[in-house]
Amino acid sequence: MYSVDEWIRYGDELRRPFHILPSLSSSKHIAIVGGGISGLTIAYRIGKKRPDISITLIEKKSTLGGVISTWKEEEWICDVAVNATRPHPAVWRLVEEIGLEEKFTPSSPRAKRRWIYRNGKSHRLSLLTVFKMGLLNLRRSVIQSRKGGVSVAELIPDNQLADAMTLGIVNDVSANVDADFLFPSLTKFGVNPPIKWSKIKRKINRKYPIFIPKKGSVASFEGGLSTLVNQLIQCIHELPNVKILVDTDVSSPAEAAELCGIQEASVIWAAPMDKNRESTDLSVFAIGYKDEDVASVKRGYGTLIPDSNIPISGILHETDVHSTKRSPPGHRLFRIMAPHSRWSGDHAQVKKWAQRLLSDAEPTIFQCIGERKIPTYRPGYLSEISKHEYAFNRVGWSYAGVSITHVITEAERVADLF
Ligand SMILES: Cc1cc2nc3c(=O)[nH]c(=O)nc-3n(C[C@H](O)[C@H](O)[C@H](O)COP(=O)(O)OP(=O)(O)OC[C@H]3O[C@@H](n4cnc5c(N)ncnc54)[C@H](O)[C@@H]3O)c2cc1C
Repeated sequence: MYSVDEWIRYGDELRRPFHILPSLSSSKHIAIVGGGISGLTIAYRIGKKRPDISITLIEKKSTLGGVISTWKEEEWICDVAVNATRPHPAVWRLVEEIGLEEKFTPSSPRAKRRWIYRNGKSHRLSLLTVFKMGLLNLRRSVIQSRKGGVSVAELIPDNQLADAMTLGIVNDVSANVDADFLFPSLTKFGVNPPIKWSKIKRKINRKYPIFIPKKGSVASFEGGLSTLVNQLIQCIHELPNVKILVDTDVSSPAEAAELCGIQEASVIWAAPMDKNRESTDLSVFAIGYKDEDVASVKRGYGTLIPDSNIPISGILHETDVHSTKRSPPGHRLFRIMAPHSRWSGDHAQVKKWAQRLLSDAEPTIFQCIGERKIPTYRPGYLSEISKHEYAFNRVGWSYAGVSITHVITEAERVADLF
């Protein structure tokens, strides 16, 4: 049972499994495997709080940041993966501590509108969509979902809407996605707060006034998400007790422990583990147009496309979403997600569809900016991993979180034990 103060600090993240051994905080040397936002935040937080503890951060690639990276070409800026974060005090606290408040801004108010593309038309998602689904139906399925292990398709009684939501987060259809993993507060997974959630939310809003993003809004960084990663790396470089090893691939916690001459119980695994785990592979494209060529494309957050006959699963209106610059003056930038299961690998096929959905005009820029793998979280996933017991510590989105708000909060919870 967590206290009201802990609920105010961590919010609903307390519902997620937390696989940290009690003995970790008495370690004199800690190895963190994985230099994504999870491993970096943990290294920074423990390293800063406890200068007496040596930390070795082990990353298999030559660069840090994990799935996060920002593509830049002349005045075009586009994040390959994470482009924004939902409101959470743990993110605000990190931003403030590492001195990025000036570069962290709420999304533009015009970005609120979202659409689903079905039967050849874009339909705006709104409260009306929920009413059409039937509030009673929704209430019934939310209550049903509390038995645990249901899919998002079972939780949300409108399949198209459910697919649109899961596509937007994990690029998978709702029948394949664990409702507890995506919406633990709705399914009431894990522990419950000691007082009403609405009261906790009010207390959170009063306590963390950097800015209070409005419900449903997001926030992002000037220069893209790599601004956050680069600043974290710089802060870590200032800590003499944290050593970073890049180009170092360890195959198991035992190997990491051996490399650092420590016990497995002092290893924090912040990387994927199971090489055979199912995942969605997708290519990410940036497409930019002159304003006048996309004048008929309404301003908003973007469009999700559940129809698997279309190679594109989502179009995000990057220029509309961010308050900071993403495109040259007089232009708009869009980001396109193209899951590999939907197309042949021929970029022309994606471009053709992008033009069909946005504008027939020739884009000013069209480029594949990267590829990403998103782990699959099948129904029952979160309750299954809650039962795991390890001789080491496990964190990160390939395990218990799905967005950066989850892994940044988790990192803070780990450091708060020290
Ligand atoms: C396309 C896409 C869009 C997304 N959009 C958003 C968004 O808008 N908002 C949001 O909040 N979240 C978003 N997410 C989710 C977000 O990216 C993740 O929650 C978060 O970045 C994961 O961080 P991590 O450190 O846990 O994992 P990762 O970033 O995967 O980092 C793991 C690190 O471990 C390293 N590693 C792996 N194996 C080993 C090994 N054996 N030895 C050493 N190192 C190893 C990897 O190279 C990597 O650097 C998105 C994800 C994707 C893919």
